[in-house]
Amino acid sequence: MNINSAIIQGAKVLKDNFINNPYLDSEILMAKVINKDRKYILLNSKKNLDKNYLNSFQKLIKKRSIGKPIAYLINKKFFWNSEFIVSNDTLIPRPDSELIIEKVLKLTAYKKKLNILEIGIGSGCIILSILKERKSFYGTGIDISKSCLNISKLNAIKLKLSSKLKLYKSNVDKFTLGKYDLIISNPPYIKNCKIRYLEKGVAKFEPKLALDGGRDGLSEMRKVIKKSSELIKKNGKFVLEIDFDQRNRVISLLKKKGFYINSINKDLANNDRCIVCTKI
Ligand code: GLN
Repeated sequence: MNINSAIIQGAKVLKDNFINNPYLDSEILMAKVINKDRKYILLNSKKNLDKNYLNSFQKLIKKRSIGKPIAYLINKKFFWNSEFIVSNDTLIPRPDSELIIEKVLKLTAYKKKLNILEIGIGSGCIILSILKERKSFYGTGIDISKSCLNISKLNAIKLKLSSKLKLYKSNVDKFTLGKYDLIISNPPYIKNCKIRYLEKGVAKFEPKLALDGGRDGLSEMRKVIKKSSELIKKNGKFVLEIDFDQRNRVISLLKKKGFYINSINKDLANNDRCIVCTKI
Protein backbone atom coordinates (compact mmCIF):
# COMPACT_ATOMS: atom_id res chain seq x y z
CA MET A 1 0.00 0.00 0.00
CA ASN A 2 1.31 3.47 -0.75
CA ILE A 3 1.58 6.31 1.77
CA ASN A 4 -1.41 8.17 0.42
CA SER A 5 -3.76 5.17 0.43
CA ALA A 6 -2.77 4.37 4.01
CA ILE A 7 -3.51 7.94 5.08
CA ILE A 8 -6.91 7.86 3.38
CA GLN A 9 -7.73 4.52 4.95
CA GLY A 10 -6.65 5.83 8.38
CA ALA A 11 -8.71 8.98 7.94
CA LYS A 12 -11.79 6.88 7.15
CA VAL A 13 -11.40 4.90 10.39
CA LEU A 14 -11.08 8.18 12.33
CA LYS A 15 -14.09 9.68 10.58
CA ASP A 16 -16.21 6.60 11.32
CA ASN A 17 -15.28 7.10 14.98
CA PHE A 18 -16.34 10.76 14.95
CA ILE A 19 -12.85 12.20 15.33
CA ASN A 20 -12.62 15.84 14.18
CA ASN A 21 -10.12 16.59 11.40
CA PRO A 22 -9.64 12.92 10.44
CA TYR A 23 -7.45 13.55 7.40
CA LEU A 24 -5.11 15.94 9.19
CA ASP A 25 -4.75 13.60 12.17
CA SER A 26 -4.08 10.65 9.87
CA GLU A 27 -1.36 12.61 8.11
CA ILE A 28 0.24 13.68 11.41
CA LEU A 29 0.31 10.08 12.62
CA MET A 30 1.85 8.92 9.34
CA ALA A 31 4.54 11.60 9.66
CA LYS A 32 5.29 10.33 13.17
CA VAL A 33 5.55 6.69 12.05
CA ILE A 34 7.87 7.29 9.10
CA ASN A 35 9.68 10.05 10.99
CA LYS A 36 9.33 12.62 8.20
CA ASP A 37 7.59 15.96 7.87
CA ARG A 38 4.41 16.87 6.00
CA LYS A 39 6.35 18.08 2.97
CA TYR A 40 7.93 14.67 2.53
CA ILE A 41 4.50 13.05 2.70
CA LEU A 42 3.09 15.36 0.03
CA LEU A 43 6.05 14.81 -2.28
CA ASN A 44 6.20 11.05 -1.76
CA SER A 45 2.55 10.13 -1.46
CA LYS A 46 2.79 7.35 -4.08
CA LYS A 47 5.76 5.69 -2.42
CA ASN A 48 5.20 2.20 -1.08
CA LEU A 49 4.83 1.91 2.69
CA ASP A 50 6.91 -0.74 4.44
CA LYS A 51 4.79 -3.38 6.20
CA ASN A 52 6.17 -2.58 9.66
CA TYR A 53 5.37 1.08 9.16
CA LEU A 54 1.85 0.24 8.05
CA ASN A 55 1.43 -1.87 11.15
CA SER A 56 2.60 0.87 13.53
CA PHE A 57 0.47 3.42 11.68
CA GLN A 58 -2.66 1.32 12.02
CA LYS A 59 -1.97 0.88 15.75
CA LEU A 60 -1.78 4.65 16.19
CA ILE A 61 -4.97 5.14 14.18
CA LYS A 62 -6.71 2.67 16.48
CA LYS A 63 -5.58 4.60 19.57
CA ARG A 64 -6.65 7.90 18.03
CA SER A 65 -10.02 6.42 17.11
CA ILE A 66 -10.85 5.83 20.78
CA GLY A 67 -10.11 9.51 21.49
CA LYS A 68 -6.50 9.47 22.69
CA PRO A 69 -5.20 13.00 22.04
CA ILE A 70 -2.77 13.46 19.16
CA ALA A 71 -0.25 15.10 21.50
CA TYR A 72 0.05 11.86 23.49
CA LEU A 73 0.45 9.79 20.32
CA ILE A 74 3.27 11.91 18.91
CA ASN A 75 4.61 12.94 22.36
CA LYS A 76 4.82 16.62 21.56
CA LYS A 77 2.80 19.82 21.62
CA PHE A 78 3.56 23.35 20.47
CA PHE A 79 3.06 26.04 23.15
CA TRP A 80 3.88 29.76 23.05
CA ASN A 81 7.07 29.67 21.01
CA SER A 82 8.41 26.16 21.31
CA GLU A 83 7.62 22.53 20.88
CA PHE A 84 7.41 20.61 24.18
CA ILE A 85 7.78 16.93 24.91
CA VAL A 86 4.69 15.55 26.66
CA SER A 87 3.83 12.16 28.11
CA ASN A 88 0.68 10.51 29.46
CA ASP A 89 1.66 11.86 32.89
CA THR A 90 1.71 15.54 31.90
CA LEU A 91 -1.26 17.71 31.08
CA ILE A 92 -1.21 18.72 27.42
CA PRO A 93 -0.19 22.42 27.19
CA ARG A 94 -3.29 24.56 26.54
CA PRO A 95 -3.57 27.86 24.64
CA ASP A 96 -5.45 29.20 27.70
CA SER A 97 -2.29 28.92 29.77
CA GLU A 98 -0.42 31.14 27.32
CA LEU A 99 -2.23 33.96 29.11
CA ILE A 100 0.14 33.43 32.05
CA ILE A 101 3.15 33.95 29.76
CA GLU A 102 1.61 37.05 28.22
CA LYS A 103 0.96 38.61 31.64
CA VAL A 104 4.37 37.69 33.04
CA LEU A 105 6.16 39.16 30.03
CA LYS A 106 4.24 42.42 30.46
CA LEU A 107 5.02 42.55 34.18
CA THR A 108 8.71 41.85 33.73
CA ALA A 109 9.58 43.90 30.64
CA TYR A 110 12.30 45.89 32.43
CA LYS A 111 13.31 43.41 35.13
CA LYS A 112 16.65 41.70 35.57
CA LYS A 113 17.54 38.57 37.50
CA LEU A 114 14.15 37.57 38.85
CA ASN A 115 13.69 34.36 40.77
CA ILE A 116 10.58 32.51 39.60
CA LEU A 117 8.82 29.59 41.24
CA GLU A 118 6.28 27.41 39.46
CA ILE A 119 4.07 25.26 41.68
CA GLY A 120 3.03 22.16 39.71
CA ILE A 121 5.41 22.37 36.77
CA GLY A 122 3.95 19.53 34.67
CA SER A 123 5.71 19.43 31.30
CA GLY A 124 7.51 22.68 32.16
CA CYS A 125 5.91 24.52 29.25
CA ILE A 126 4.94 27.62 31.26
CA ILE A 127 8.11 28.39 33.18
CA LEU A 128 10.40 27.33 30.30
CA SER A 129 8.56 29.61 27.87
CA ILE A 130 9.21 32.50 30.30
CA LEU A 131 12.85 31.55 30.86
CA LYS A 132 13.36 31.40 27.11
CA GLU A 133 12.08 34.95 26.73
CA ARG A 134 13.87 36.35 29.80
CA LYS A 135 17.42 35.07 29.66
CA SER A 136 18.56 36.62 32.97
CA PHE A 137 15.80 34.99 35.07
CA TYR A 138 16.14 31.86 37.18
CA GLY A 139 13.44 29.27 37.68
CA THR A 140 12.48 26.69 40.25
CA GLY A 141 9.81 24.12 39.55
CA ILE A 142 8.13 21.74 41.93
CA ASP A 143 5.80 18.86 41.23
CA ILE A 144 4.49 15.90 43.15
CA SER A 145 4.93 13.71 40.08
CA LYS A 146 8.41 12.38 39.41
CA SER A 147 7.56 11.60 35.80
CA CYS A 148 6.47 15.21 35.20
CA LEU A 149 9.80 16.37 36.60
CA ASN A 150 11.59 14.03 34.21
CA ILE A 151 9.68 15.49 31.26
CA SER A 152 10.37 19.06 32.46
CA LYS A 153 14.05 18.19 32.64
CA LEU A 154 14.01 16.86 29.06
CA ASN A 155 12.24 20.01 27.87
CA ALA A 156 14.75 22.21 29.70
CA ILE A 157 17.58 20.35 27.96
CA LYS A 158 15.84 20.60 24.60
CA LEU A 159 15.48 24.38 24.98
CA LYS A 160 19.03 24.74 26.37
CA LEU A 161 17.69 26.09 29.64
CA SER A 162 18.69 23.33 32.05
CA SER A 163 21.24 25.55 33.82
CA LYS A 164 18.43 28.03 34.55
CA LEU A 165 15.91 25.64 36.08
CA LYS A 166 16.02 23.76 39.39
CA LEU A 167 13.52 20.98 39.93
CA TYR A 168 12.23 19.47 43.18
CA LYS A 169 9.87 16.62 43.78
CA SER A 170 7.65 17.95 46.52
CA ASN A 171 4.18 18.25 47.80
CA VAL A 172 3.12 21.91 47.77
CA ASP A 173 2.64 21.86 51.58
CA LYS A 174 6.11 20.57 52.29
CA PHE A 175 8.18 22.86 50.07
CA THR A 176 9.99 25.58 52.04
CA LEU A 177 13.02 26.48 49.94
CA GLY A 178 13.83 30.03 48.87
CA LYS A 179 12.07 33.37 48.40
CA TYR A 180 10.70 34.37 45.04
CA ASP A 181 10.05 37.58 43.10
CA LEU A 182 7.41 35.89 41.02
CA ILE A 183 5.28 32.77 41.53
CA ILE A 184 3.17 31.14 38.86
CA SER A 185 0.78 28.21 38.98
CA ASN A 186 -1.81 26.36 36.97
CA PRO A 187 -3.01 24.05 39.74
CA PRO A 188 -5.56 21.25 39.36
CA TYR A 189 -8.85 23.15 39.63
CA ILE A 190 -11.62 20.98 38.21
CA LYS A 191 -14.31 19.89 40.65
CA ASN A 192 -13.92 16.19 41.24
CA CYS A 193 -17.49 15.39 40.15
CA LYS A 194 -17.09 17.40 36.93
CA ILE A 195 -14.01 15.63 35.58
CA ARG A 196 -15.98 12.99 33.74
CA TYR A 197 -17.95 15.65 31.89
CA LEU A 198 -14.84 17.27 30.41
CA GLU A 199 -14.12 16.68 26.72
CA LYS A 200 -13.76 12.96 26.00
CA GLY A 201 -10.03 13.07 25.32
CA VAL A 202 -9.37 15.04 28.52
CA ALA A 203 -11.50 13.00 30.90
CA LYS A 204 -10.28 9.66 29.62
CA PHE A 205 -6.60 10.29 28.93
CA GLU A 206 -5.21 13.29 30.81
CA PRO A 207 -3.73 12.83 34.31
CA LYS A 208 -6.32 13.22 37.09
CA LEU A 209 -3.51 14.46 39.33
CA ALA A 210 -3.21 17.58 37.16
CA LEU A 211 -6.97 18.19 36.95
CA ASP A 212 -8.60 17.13 40.20
CA GLY A 213 -9.29 20.09 42.48
CA GLY A 214 -11.23 18.05 45.04
CA ARG A 215 -14.87 18.51 46.04
CA ASP A 216 -15.14 22.24 45.38
CA GLY A 217 -12.34 22.51 42.81
CA LEU A 218 -10.27 24.63 45.19
CA SER A 219 -8.57 22.14 47.46
CA GLU A 220 -5.19 22.42 45.69
CA MET A 221 -5.72 26.12 44.95
CA ARG A 222 -5.96 26.86 48.70
CA LYS A 223 -2.64 25.10 49.33
CA VAL A 224 -0.98 26.88 46.40
CA ILE A 225 -2.17 30.30 47.61
CA LYS A 226 -1.08 29.63 51.20
CA LYS A 227 2.35 28.40 50.12
CA SER A 228 2.82 31.28 47.70
CA SER A 229 2.03 33.81 50.42
CA GLU A 230 4.86 32.28 52.47
CA LEU A 231 7.47 31.94 49.73
CA ILE A 232 6.93 35.21 47.87
CA LYS A 233 8.96 38.36 48.53
CA LYS A 234 7.14 41.53 49.60
CA ASN A 235 5.80 43.24 46.46
CA GLY A 236 6.33 40.01 44.55
CA LYS A 237 3.84 39.07 41.87
CA PHE A 238 1.70 35.96 41.77
CA VAL A 239 0.09 34.83 38.50
CA LEU A 240 -2.50 32.10 38.81
CA GLU A 241 -4.72 30.20 36.38
CA ILE A 242 -8.30 29.57 37.54
CA ASP A 243 -11.50 28.02 36.20
CA PHE A 244 -14.14 30.27 34.62
CA ASP A 245 -16.38 30.28 37.71
CA GLN A 246 -13.78 30.56 40.47
CA ARG A 247 -13.00 34.27 40.23
CA ASN A 248 -14.76 35.53 43.38
CA ARG A 249 -13.85 32.63 45.61
CA VAL A 250 -10.18 32.78 44.58
CA ILE A 251 -10.03 36.56 45.01
CA SER A 252 -11.31 36.18 48.55
CA LEU A 253 -8.71 33.49 49.32
CA LEU A 254 -5.95 35.69 47.89
CA LYS A 255 -7.02 38.75 49.89
CA LYS A 256 -7.06 36.72 53.09
CA LYS A 257 -3.42 35.79 52.46
CA GLY A 258 -2.30 39.38 51.90
CA PHE A 259 -2.47 39.72 48.12
CA TYR A 260 -3.64 42.83 46.29
CA ILE A 261 -5.54 41.96 43.09
CA ASN A 262 -4.05 43.70 40.04
CA SER A 263 -6.12 42.17 37.26
CA ILE A 264 -8.40 39.32 36.26
CA ASN A 265 -7.81 38.31 32.66
CA LYS A 266 -9.99 36.51 30.16
CA ASP A 267 -8.98 33.66 27.87
CA LEU A 268 -9.77 33.34 24.15
CA ALA A 269 -13.26 32.05 24.97
CA ASN A 270 -13.88 35.17 27.09
CA ASN A 271 -13.79 33.28 30.39
CA ASP A 272 -11.97 34.58 33.49
CA ARG A 273 -8.81 32.51 33.41
CA CYS A 274 -5.84 34.25 34.98
CA ILE A 275 -5.38 36.41 38.08
CA VAL A 276 -2.41 38.71 38.57
CA CYS A 277 -1.83 39.89 42.15
CA THR A 278 0.86 41.41 44.38
CA LYS A 279 1.94 40.44 47.88
CA ILE A 280 1.59 43.47 50.13
N1 GLN B 1 -7.94 23.96 31.76
C1 GLN B 1 -7.89 22.55 31.94
C2 GLN B 1 -9.15 21.89 31.40
O1 GLN B 1 -10.21 22.48 31.48
C3 GLN B 1 -7.72 22.20 33.41
C4 GLN B 1 -6.41 22.54 33.90
C5 GLN B 1 -6.32 22.50 35.38
O2 GLN B 1 -7.06 21.84 36.13
N2 GLN B 1 -5.40 23.23 35.84
O3 GLN B 1 -9.10 20.81 30.88
